[in-house]
Amino acid sequence: MPGQPCAMTSSGIQALRSLVNEESQSGTGRVDFAEPEEHRALRAAVAGIAAKFGPRYYAERAAARRPCAELWQALGDAGFIGVNIPAEYGGGGGGLTELALVCEEIAAAGTPLLLLLVSAAISAEMISDFGTGEQRATWLPGLASGAVKMVFAITEPDAGSNTLRISTTARQEKRRGEVGGDWVLHGTKYYISGVDEAQALLVVARTGQDERGGRLSLFIVPADAPGLDKHLLPVDLLLPERQFTLHFDGVRVGPGALVGEEGEGFRQVFHGLNPERITGAALGVGIARYALGAAARYAAERTVWAEPIGAHQGVAHPLAKAKIETELAALMIRRAAWQHDHGEPAGESSNMAKYAAAEAALAALDAAIQAHGGNGLATEYGLMPYWGLARLLRIAPVNREMILNYVAQHSLGLPRSY
Ligand SMILES: Cc1cc2nc3c(=O)[nH]c(=O)nc-3n(C[C@H](O)[C@H](O)[C@H](O)COP(=O)(O)OP(=O)(O)OC[C@H]3O[C@@H](n4cnc5c(N)ncnc54)[C@H](O)[C@@H]3O)c2cc1C
Repeated sequence: MPGQPCAMTSSGIQALRSLVNEESQSGTGRVDFAEPEEHRALRAAVAGIAAKFGPRYYAERAAARRPCAELWQALGDAGFIGVNIPAEYGGGGGGLTELALVCEEIAAAGTPLLLLLVSAAISAEMISDFGTGEQRATWLPGLASGAVKMVFAITEPDAGSNTLRISTTARQEKRRGEVGGDWVLHGTKYYISGVDEAQALLVVARTGQDERGGRLSLFIVPADAPGLDKHLLPVDLLLPERQFTLHFDGVRVGPGALVGEEGEGFRQVFHGLNPERITGAALGVGIARYALGAAARYAAERTVWAEPIGAHQGVAHPLAKAKIETELAALMIRRAAWQHDHGEPAGESSNMAKYAAAEAALAALDAAIQAHGGNGLATEYGLMPYWGLARLLRIAPVNREMILNYVAQHSLGLPRSY
């Protein structure tokens, strides 16, 4: 059983806060490619905790479809689940830059956690940025400590990539003389991860119609709300986190459940999706690092001819190519996270980072499996448990083709194709 987590020292967390604050206050916009000492310490501390659990723990949980609850809690106890949450709510006071490092390091240790993308990245960021004082006080301390998980529900059977087409509705019931009434939700979501582990869901629902399509709004819905039906949606991936189809049949929440402004969901969601893409990309880079590390060790030792197989370019070049792609993806993650943390538009970089990291993770895993030969498929060598997650990253949180659409339209100025 894994031992006690090694927490980053309180002076380390303090240094991280002052680093973030000084940098944002100076407004220099300086990007330094030398990784600050605080970030190296953060990486080392997270990697130290994850290593105590390790790939075997992850693979067993993934095969059993059971959450990595102990790892989540150990990271929460050390302050890393909430590293991006404001200090006044018990978080680390850092930003997406730091959360991406956490995601990358746990994945590089062979223990990627999908719910960091929805609970720590989307939900905590949305509540921090758009939530009321009461919502922040209610949810952020638990999200920061890891005691609370809030998952994210946007995908629908008939909408998918076309978010504006979602049909889950939220209507406000106003009684005479009342300022705000309850919201009542109807509709269906699917592929929602981790509902069985979560205390609440951040739900995107339609509260009206405008010229672009649905007027979208965001609601915090307790996971045990009456009228919310959850059905396991089986997927053939090795993942500790399970997916669900959700039916909202007159789910009633109070006026305080609305996050941000009614009808502003589209803008808010797209702001919140950047953190999901950045942290998803960081998981991809971590998986790639894990696979390349295993492959390099194996190819340097395995000898079936006169020299180790890594001496053959047919083995070495795919690994080297994946290494280059991984480093490039990591650079783009840094830019995207930096832009998000500095309040600059981060859509283009977040999309590019997610694209590059998903491709790098798949290339690295594929090359690593090939370099291992038959052993690449063996339980003992621990590569296959990450294949499904790496493949998922090409589809979710946003698929490769929608990213290419974005880049074609927004970066290259080409006509919208869909
Ligand atoms: C394991 C897993 C976990 C998930 N977890 C969550 C979660 O927690 N919360 C949540 O809300 N959702 C979740 N999802 C859903 C995921 O975000 C969606 O599957 C993803 O966004 C793609 O949507 P879709 O499946 O409806 O694909 P569709 O929109 O049906 O698209 C199918 C394919 O068509 C292509 N395509 C679609 N539109 C275009 C276009 N305009 N141009 C070119 N090509 C196009 C793409 O190749 C795409 O992959 C999860 C999915 C999986 C499998």
